[in-house]
Amino acid sequence: MIKCLKADLHIHSCLSPCADLMMSPKRIVEMAVGKGLDMIAISDHNSAENINAAMKVAHNTSLKVLAGMEIATVEEVHLVGIFPDHDAAMSMQELVYARLTPGENKEELFGEQIIVNESDEVEGYNHRLLIGATSLPIEEVVREIHNLKGVAIASHVDREVYSIIGQLGFIPEGLAIDALELSPAAKYAEAAARIPQLTDYPVVTCSDAHNLDEIGQRTTKFWMEDSTVDEIRNAFLKKEGRHIELAN
Ligand SMILES: [Zn+2]
Ligand SMILES: [Zn+2]
Repeated sequence: MIKCLKADLHIHSCLSPCADLMMSPKRIVEMAVGKGLDMIAISDHNSAENINAAMKVAHNTSLKVLAGMEIATVEEVHLVGIFPDHDAAMSMQELVYARLTPGENKEELFGEQIIVNESDEVEGYNHRLLIGATSLPIEEVVREIHNLKGVAIASHVDREVYSIIGQLGFIPEGLAIDALELSPAAKYAEAAARIPQLTDYPVVTCSDAHNLDEIGQRTTKFWMEDSTVDEIRNAFLKKEGRHIELAN
């Protein structure tokens, strides 16, 4: 049966250097449940190491936590990959880590990258340069997300930097992007007037939350049967009554 699921598919945890230190997996899940969300994705920059903890916290709640990652391509385009399970996100992480800009995170400059367990205990620090880009071309990132049975969403396409439109000027023909994301402050009509290709793709809005208050400030309604990546893909493709609707 098709139901309406309220989703925020772009949330950064305290593993992202730019996110607030309060963004632990436990607090993110509690906030998302409190705000009545049905589905979220933890989408940290170039890493997936806090997803398992968030999944554990959400285990006996009404909230589904999906495994996401915001990958920076060699063109400095941000893409959110949403994966069918934790293992798939780990496979993506292996590739991303192998192709990440070499060097160590400078905590005093970029912020701490904290790995936290489901009980809000610090498990360790990630010392990679997660804020940097990878050497992976955008085509390869999309291909790999699809190989892992995930969906590829181009992040905050209305932004002038770190977005596919900002960096490339257009969406290359043949690039199999599944959906485009508008940044939280963007309005669809204004963005569509400026970016003609917006109307060629399914469009989602997410919070891109970096602190707890931002979680769920922008969401997308998914009309589909279950909180799975397969169903998200079906909703993008408008299969058998499934669809998406921009919310708040
Ligand atoms: Zn981004
Ligand atoms: Zn982001």
